[in-house]
Amino acid sequence: MRWTQKLMREVAVEERTNLGLSQWDQLDPYVLCQEHGIPVYALSEIASSDAVAHFSVDRASTWSAALIPVGSARLIVENDEHHPVRRRSNIGHELGHFLLEHDFKTELFGESHARQFDAKLEKEATFLAGELLVPFQSVEQMAFKGWTNEQVALKFGVSEQFAQMRMSGQRVRAERASVKFRGRRSF
Ligand SMILES: [Zn+2]
Repeated sequence: MRWTQKLMREVAVEERTNLGLSQWDQLDPYVLCQEHGIPVYALSEIASSDAVAHFSVDRASTWSAALIPVGSARLIVENDEHHPVRRRSNIGHELGHFLLEHDFKTELFGESHARQFDAKLEKEATFLAGELLVPFQSVEQMAFKGWTNEQVALKFGVSEQFAQMRMSGQRVRAERASVKFRGRRSF
């Protein structure tokens, strides 16, 4: 499947609609996992299991989450030491891999994300996470109205960095549009 941005936006809108969310509602990625029958385990809760032995201590701080295939089922293990807004986007990213039906290159649990999926698939998962957590329709309107990263972050329960990632392109477009508009008005 070749995922265009348009198609990925449609997937996100459908998922949000199924949860009964408007474009201004916060999406709870844990609820979306539930909807899809994906259990989410916190790394700290399973810290004694053999699986976690693969994670070295120094890696634990940068490691975010992983979608893990177990037969035809999927589960997510997340690093619950991260800030809640970061955990939300981590889970959103893993849901991205799931919803876009990305193939696993390797089933090695504990390998870095970059090795689990290639760069193109990583970009897609991040894009879908963005659309799930801060939908495009709202991005367009917030850019037009000049919302700050802080406002966007608070509204949608994401980090300011994440808000910046979502808003930057649309802000440029909104700025260009307003320059055009001012230009037209002067005649
Ligand atoms: Zn990924």
